[in-house]
Amino acid sequence: MAADEYPPVNPYVAGLLGHCPRCGKGHLFQGFLKLAPRCEVCGLDLAFADSGDGPAVFVMTIAGFIVVGAALWVEVAYAPPYWVHALIFLPLTVVVCAGLLRPTKSLLIALQYFNRAEEGQRADEN
Ligand SMILES: [Zn+2]
Repeated sequence: MAADEYPPVNPYVAGLLGHCPRCGKGHLFQGFLKLAPRCEVCGLDLAFADSGDGPAVFVMTIAGFIVVGAALWVEVAYAPPYWVHALIFLPLTVVVCAGLLRPTKSLLIALQYFNRAEEGQRADEN
């Protein structure tokens, strides 16, 4: 089955749900962050998928806004001792980062597939 034989899949929905970017039904992940070798529904070879450090950069930025913003707000509003900050915001940092990493990685892979993004090649290499 060629790629154009599948119904169009919204890459944002498929990506955020961790589904295959081609069929929208198969699962992208084999473990928490480990990619499956291929889609179990349409057989799409996921060897092309390389999100690199992209998800980590987005997650660090978003988590930084959330956690630092919340810590500043709590400090200004309540001025608790530092151990209270550590008790609240260290686990919050882990939860926010772990919660965002998987959907961010699958979203970037879905967008990579949708936009046919790949490593640049010189014309004379083909
Ligand atoms: Zn699939």
